Amino acid sequence: TEEPCTGGVWCRLCTALSSASPPEMLRGKRVIVTGASSGIGEQMAYHLARMGAHVLLTARTEAKLQKVVDKCLDLGAASARYVSGSMESTAFAEEVVKEAENTWGGLDMLILNHIGHSFFDFFNGDVDHVRKLMETNFLSYVAMTVSALPMLKESEGSIVVVSSVSGKVASPFTAPYSATKFALEGFFSSLRHELIIENVNVSVTLCILGYINTESAVRAVSHVIKEAPAPKEECALEIIRSGALRQRELHYPASTVTPILLLRDFAPEFLDGLIRSNMRVENIKRA
Ligand code: NDP
Repeated sequence: TEEPCTGGVWCRLCTALSSASPPEMLRGKRVIVTGASSGIGEQMAYHLARMGAHVLLTARTEAKLQKVVDKCLDLGAASARYVSGSMESTAFAEEVVKEAENTWGGLDMLILNHIGHSFFDFFNGDVDHVRKLMETNFLSYVAMTVSALPMLKESEGSIVVVSSVSGKVASPFTAPYSATKFALEGFFSSLRHELIIENVNVSVTLCILGYINTESAVRAVSHVIKEAPAPKEECALEIIRSGALRQRELHYPASTVTPILLLRDFAPEFLDGLIRSNMRVENIKRA
């Protein structure tokens, strides 16, 4: 309510809730963000900086990462640094985690967010592209998790995996991308079980995102997708919040993602028809 709190049990509850709010929970925490040179990853870096976290950012483009690091320091990050390289190589994925170990001696949160370039088009039969995308969008997530787990066990930390509605329900024109996101769901949901069975207090949060207004997404799909995209700044904050609160799954924006997931189980063919009818398929020019 708008009423100020007047004390009693509710006051104690308010205090408990506000002291557990993500901004405070992340002060001084050590966080890796991948794909942090643009889009949602860049916005997550800025939120974490405002919260006073230590951030280690990674992507391929050094010049962009340097700018994001500078802005993070201006915004109040406890510390900010970057490592540049391509997640096509699992060796690089492991190197990023090693950098966190050498710099901080530990890690509290691993945010896996990067994606390699793919096509929004009919699948053209390019098997090598599927393999390469699997390496970038999936295998590097696994490699970073394996390398980071000893530190995350020690800190009772969190793994945050940025996925998509396309990792739960397939749409046309995204076959390789969708395959990589479905793989994330399978791997990390199984891993979550095993961590619980072994009483390991490391949380796994899967972020199921709808259409977000990042430059690359708008450029790739705005001529086909009819719906308006949700804001990347709010999306980034919701991802951090869900990780800090150790939620199992985030649906963002919930107004579109949650109904889609309900329809998937109760009326899958109706949902498939709805997905196709919400696209301007005529704007896809077949190669
Ligand atoms: P962007 O394209 O804006 O950012 C992708 C990031 O990944 C960039 O920092 C890019 O930097 C980096 N990257 C690209 N290729 C590589 C590579 N080979 N190795 C290492 N890093 C690489 O993506 P979004 O912000 O839109 O998406 C972020 C996440 O959100 C993704 O996991 C995506 O699947 C998910 N998502 C996004 C949606 C949207 O509508 N935007 C919808 C659903 C899910 P650089 O080029 O410098 O390497």
